[in-house]
Amino acid sequence: MIQFQTNGLAVFESALQQTTSTVVETDHFILVVDPNWLPHEIKEIQQYVAKIRNGKELYLLFTHGDFDHIIGYGAFPDAKVIASKGLQNHPNKSYKLELIQQFDNDYYISRPYPIAFPNVDIVIEEDGETLKIGDYRLTFYLSPGHTHDGLFTVIEPSGIWITGDYLSDFELPLISDGAKNYNETLEKAEEILRSHTLNVLVPGHGQIAEQKEEMFRRIKLSREYLNRLVHAVRKEDEETIAVLEQELPFQSSFTAKCHTKNIAIIQDEYIEEYENED
Ligand SMILES: [Zn+2]
Repeated sequence: MIQFQTNGLAVFESALQQTTSTVVETDHFILVVDPNWLPHEIKEIQQYVAKIRNGKELYLLFTHGDFDHIIGYGAFPDAKVIASKGLQNHPNKSYKLELIQQFDNDYYISRPYPIAFPNVDIVIEEDGETLKIGDYRLTFYLSPGHTHDGLFTVIEPSGIWITGDYLSDFELPLISDGAKNYNETLEKAEEILRSHTLNVLVPGHGQIAEQKEEMFRRIKLSREYLNRLVHAVRKEDEETIAVLEQELPFQSSFTAKCHTKNIAIIQDEYIEEYENED
């Protein structure tokens, strides 16, 4: 299903976890981001791309290596793949593929393309790296915190900002790669917002944002939630920790697991700091 469409940009939304797949169309190239989840949803994206392609170069960008985001990699075999160095050197590639296989087995899903971990052609190693294609410039920023291999992409002059699993309109921070990294990435997000002219933010899950105020609001929402959680965990304030769990939308065993993981990560991070101070 197409969630949002404007000149040169189509954002598809999966029925699962409101995960987005983005297609950017320019005079010089087509860019597909994180095509996902279900076979008919990925087929819709393939058909859309085939219709608009006109012999143009196809690029496939991965915002990070979580299995829901790389699940459609095999559906675009002739694309040039862009991702971070962290994704290229991902330490748990076979585990991520097992998660895809497990998901497909759980729902009796067959896919008409192989399940594989992305082989990266254009590896992004540093903040501010750019890729010029025709009149367009893609600027990349590393975005660790949710995962170690996150990547923000700004496309100019279109003013499109692809944020991966940050700055959703509903999903609160999931900090597998640490609260400190996550906070630094939020700071980077604020700098990006100040230094680029942005027309649309596309998160990995949920609705796009077109207003700057809304983009800033999402940064603030993430930061405040995370600060309250870090504070509560360090103070061992069980009552507030429970309140923060209740604030997670779509309460389920999945959100409970995410919350427990967030707490464990904060404990690890701050206990380590305490030990280092000795
Ligand atoms: Zn995700």
